[in-house]
Amino acid sequence: MKVPLLDLQAQYAPIRAEIRAAMDRVCDAQHFILGPEVSALEEEVAQFCGARFGVGVSSGTDALLVALMAAGVGPGDEVITSSFTFFATAGVIVRLGARPVFVDIDAGTFNLKSEEVQTKLTSCTKAIVPVHLFGLCAELSSILEIAGDRGIHVIEDAAQAIGAGDRLGRSAGTIGDMGCFSFFPSKNLGAFGDAGMIVTNDADLAESLRVLRVHGGKPKYYHRVVGGNFRLDALQAAVLRVKLKHLTAWTEARRRNAQRYRELFAESGLQSQVTLPQDTPGHIYNQFVIRVPRRDELRSFLRQNGVETEIYYPVPLHLQDCFADLGYRKGELPESEKAAAQVLALPIYPELLMEQQRHVVEQIRRYLDDGAQAPELSRGSAAVS
Ligand SMILES: *Cc1c(COP(=O)(O)O)cnc(C)c1O
Repeated sequence: MKVPLLDLQAQYAPIRAEIRAAMDRVCDAQHFILGPEVSALEEEVAQFCGARFGVGVSSGTDALLVALMAAGVGPGDEVITSSFTFFATAGVIVRLGARPVFVDIDAGTFNLKSEEVQTKLTSCTKAIVPVHLFGLCAELSSILEIAGDRGIHVIEDAAQAIGAGDRLGRSAGTIGDMGCFSFFPSKNLGAFGDAGMIVTNDADLAESLRVLRVHGGKPKYYHRVVGGNFRLDALQAAVLRVKLKHLTAWTEARRRNAQRYRELFAESGLQSQVTLPQDTPGHIYNQFVIRVPRRDELRSFLRQNGVETEIYYPVPLHLQDCFADLGYRKGELPESEKAAAQVLALPIYPELLMEQQRHVVEQIRRYLDDGAQAPELSRGSAAVS
């Protein structure tokens, strides 16, 4: 049995006619950059999240970059963020000449430890970028308190978390000053290419973001600030508007699949060997990430048996070669390093079938049960040699 990590064709098939009609609308209008489709999407996403404003941009990475620019981050500034995240979270900080200051993660949630943020504050701290990794909201209450007192911006990397809710029922992206979404095709709300959005409740920030995404021109051809081309195009917006209507149902399906995995793992008797992701009501499961022993070998075994998995992420950012000059050492952020060695993302996409999930768990059980006999095997091979 084949179990892909994601099956976008299965998502597309039932909405094909709707998507084609939306794309036709743009083709007939011949209005491709920003414009009414983008404005409509901005309103719809803002409303979906419960934010006042949405500003569509060219990608999730650019959403983070423009948000940091609007927060005034530049050379000499420090930005506190998680080491266990996608590269873009820190890449944008460095691109603005600022310094990423990495904090470790909580082993249970994979999100940055809010207690550690306090210890990394300096007079240069300009912003904090918590990441809602895998679709689970980071704990922001204490971070908001720390930041609020000092005028530090909190910019949520909600690239994987559209529609996620925190403990207090707040929606990912609307908790801090600005929230950044990615519509990369593999995200829960995925475009037919690159796209992203920033949401905020602050009218001044929204205005800055809108100006920065068109090279800082306002009015056009008059520049008081230097921005860039961070525009969202109408075809992507039209596709996203169709998909947004299905997002709640897709999220429910992901949650159902997570629940099925929990039941299947409980039946398999693997609880002592496999750590499942935290079961939190607001989780939207962009990924279903487990921790396992002998992760890389298990991954090859699963691949041989038709199950696609992925490692998000194999190297924590403080140990990336390009950040060597920041001076972090191995062992400095132990939970991030441990996670990088143990995590494995299983297929969780909405269209996944029960038989496929059964197959995934069965293959993991087969592998780990064989592993239990490993001492036997090595004794056997020692006798041979
Ligand atoms: C996907 C992602 C991004 C970047 O989004 P793109 O649209 O690919 O540029 C940033 N941060 C996190 C945590 C992501 O998962």
